[in-house]
Amino acid sequence: SAKPVSFKLVLLGESAVGKSSLVLRFVRGQFFEYQESTIGAAFLTQTVPLGDAVIKFEIWDTAGQERYKSLAPMYYRGAAAAIVVYDITNYDSFLRAKQWVKELQRQGNTNIVIALAGNKSDLSDKRKVDFSEASAYAEDNGILFLETSAKTAQNVNEIFVAIARKLPKD
Ligand code: GDP
Ligand code: MG
Repeated sequence: SAKPVSFKLVLLGESAVGKSSLVLRFVRGQFFEYQESTIGAAFLTQTVPLGDAVIKFEIWDTAGQERYKSLAPMYYRGAAAAIVVYDITNYDSFLRAKQWVKELQRQGNTNIVIALAGNKSDLSDKRKVDFSEASAYAEDNGILFLETSAKTAQNVNEIFVAIARKLPKD
C-alpha cells in the first residue's frame, strides 16, 4: 500500500463555531453537545485514501479567542491547507471568517488550499447566513465551500476529501 503523503492543515474561525467538533467528528467519529473549549491549539492526525495515494492530514485545531489571535500565524505558517469555519446561525462569525480568508491569502503559503465551512447546518431554523451569499463569496475568492454539521456528520468527510483532491500529489 502507498506511503502516506503528509500535509499540514489548520482550522481557523471564531470561538464556538465548531472547529474542534469538526476535527473530532472527522478523526474519531464523535460529537459532544458540551465540547470543551480549546486552550491554545490541539494537534490530531487522520489519513484519507485518495485513488492510489493516501493523504495524511496533520491537523492544528486553534483556539478562536482573541487572546490567542496573535498565535495564529504560528499555526498557518507552512500550512498546505486551511479550513475557515463559521456558524450559519451567527452572521458575525461569517464576517470574521472572511477576515481569516483575507489574512491567509495575504500571509499564508502561496498555494494554500482554503475551504470555507458553514458549520451547524443542522440548525437551519436559526440560520442567519444565506447559503447563496457564502457560496458566491467563496466562488469570487477561489476557495472551496461546503455547509457542514459536526453533529450529524453532514459534509465533514467531504470537506477533507475536497481539500485532499486539490493538494499537490507529486
Ligand atoms: P470551537 O470553539 O470552534 O472549537 O467550537 P466547539 O467545537 O468547541 O463547539 C462549540 C459548541 O457548538 C459546542 O457546544 C458544540 O457541541 C456545538 N457544535 C459544534 N458543531 C456543531 C454542529 O454542527 N451542530 C450543532 N448543533 N452544534 C455544534
Ligand atoms: Mg475548539
